[in-house]
This record gives sequence, C-alpha cells and structure tokens, in this order.
Amino acid sequence: MKIFCVGRNYADHAKELGNAIPEEPVIFMKPKSALMQSNAPFFYPEFTNELHYEVEIVLRICKNGKHIAEDSAEAYYDAFTIGIDFTARDIQAELKKKGLPWEKAKAWDNSAIIGKWVPFTPEILSNPIKFSLQKNKETVQRGTTDDMIFSFNQIVSHISQYFSINIGDLIYTGTPAGVGECVTDDMLEGFYGDEKMFFLEIK
Ligand code: MG
Repeated sequence: MKIFCVGRNYADHAKELGNAIPEEPVIFMKPKSALMQSNAPFFYPEFTNELHYEVEIVLRICKNGKHIAEDSAEAYYDAFTIGIDFTARDIQAELKKKGLPWEKAKAWDNSAIIGKWVPFTPEILSNPIKFSLQKNKETVQRGTTDDMIFSFNQIVSHISQYFSINIGDLIYTGTPAGVGECVTDDMLEGFYGDEKMFFLEIK
C-alpha cells in the first residue's frame, strides 16, 4: 500500500507559503507507517516546534493500473474521505532551503490522518466536493474541488505515468489556504459538507 500526496494543488495555498503555481502536479509520498490508525491517540511529535494541519480530500484506489489516460481515470478510485497531511513546517522550511527531500517533515509515523470513507456516486462526482477543518470548533480551512489546479483524474493519470497504482493506495489531493499551527490539547475535526468525517485530539 502506498500513500501519494499532491503538493500545491490550490493556488491560494501555494501563495500563502510563497510557492509558485505548479505547471504539473507536485507529488511526494508517505510510507504505510505514516497512516494513523483510527481511534489511536495522536501525540505531538517531539522533533518539531511547528506542527501544521493541512486538510485534504483523500482518494482510495480500487483498481490496479499504470499509464492511465485522464478520461478513464475515474474507474480507478471508488471512495474518498477527508484527512490531514500533517507537516512539521519548521523542518520542511529547513529542508526546502537546502533543496533536500521532505520526508522528515511529511512522512513520519501517524502524519497521515483519514476519516470515514464515502463511496463515490455519479451525483457526488458531478458536483463540487466541499470540505473544511475546524480547530477547537472554529473553521480554519475551507476547500472545494472547484479550486483544485489539477483534478482527481489529472492527478491519477499523472501519478500513473511514473508509479503503478494498486488497490488500497491512497492519494492526498492537496490542501486549500488556511494551513496553520496546532498544539497539544487542540481538537481537529474534518468535515465533508456538514458531515463530520474525523475527530482528532492532539496529546
Ligand atoms: Mg498537503
């Protein structure tokens, strides 16, 4: 099982971190050990002083494939959820400055949060998906698939030019503007529309 992530897929978020709008999807990966098991406690990692949430739509891959065309990509994912791509922003800033890989900032144990799965229906796929994150009951991030630079199909197709994708793989599709810091005792709740998808308390 692999976890793919797309960076800078929302123009407002790329701008808030001072990054250029990408011409093709920015892809990085997290290992399987990054996936937070549901109901496990989340502990603030000891190696960072700037833990950032990034709320994202996560796709679940349901079919094996490689070199997938954009117009057939829809057959390769069957469900989505709302998750968090946790980022040690202080470490990422250091690594970016030196031009080094991001794994220590992005791919550590339990850095990939997922909520409950929602099966795709034709109706869901034909409307914008709206999602948000609340921190301590206040909305801190709001996103809609309308604002994505690269669509689900473009992302799946692009990834599959380089990597085979397999049943059970996950794709974090990027975060909208509003990323920010969280600290011990913060409560994070992800929403699809009004429906709560996950609850996480930072210990
Ligand atoms: Mg992200």
